Amino acid sequence: MENCIFCKIINQKIPSHKVYEDDVVYAFLDISQVTKGHTLVVPKTHVTDLFDYDEALASAVFARIPKIAKAIEKAFPEMEGLNMINNNKELAYQSVFHSHVHLIPRYSKEDDFSIHFGNHQDDYQSHELSQIAETIAKQVAEND
Ligand code: AMP
Ligand code: ZN
Repeated sequence: MENCIFCKIINQKIPSHKVYEDDVVYAFLDISQVTKGHTLVVPKTHVTDLFDYDEALASAVFARIPKIAKAIEKAFPEMEGLNMINNNKELAYQSVFHSHVHLIPRYSKEDDFSIHFGNHQDDYQSHELSQIAETIAKQVAEND
């Protein structure tokens, strides 16, 4: 897609530090290395976000991810963990609107990465959780 920075990277119109490429994905270092080896895996097809994937593309992209994650782990044996992050829409911190998966290797609790999951176990009663689950389940079934 014209004017998409990641399409330009995939098409070699702007430079990147490539880690891996095949017919489905292009993987390269995030310009802002939250930690050493922070890698973006992007589908070569321009899809805006998760809502833009079909099942075949999602399986093909995800199928490549363990291989790249394992390569990062082998490259940097001091790595002790890895976060896989995929942001969708501006509210959820997406800033480049060509879908991508962040692979962020973790070496230390003192690095500059954090995710906060507040504890909200008391927010919903069991019957309310059932209702929420049913609402989603109905949509999953309808879209099958
Ligand atoms: P997100 O906020 O999840 O959309 O992530 C977009 C990521 O793309 C950010 O972490 C940016 O640092 C990264 N990024 C933006 N432009 C480039 C670029 N030209 N090369 C590599 N990474 C980039
Ligand atoms: Zn694109």
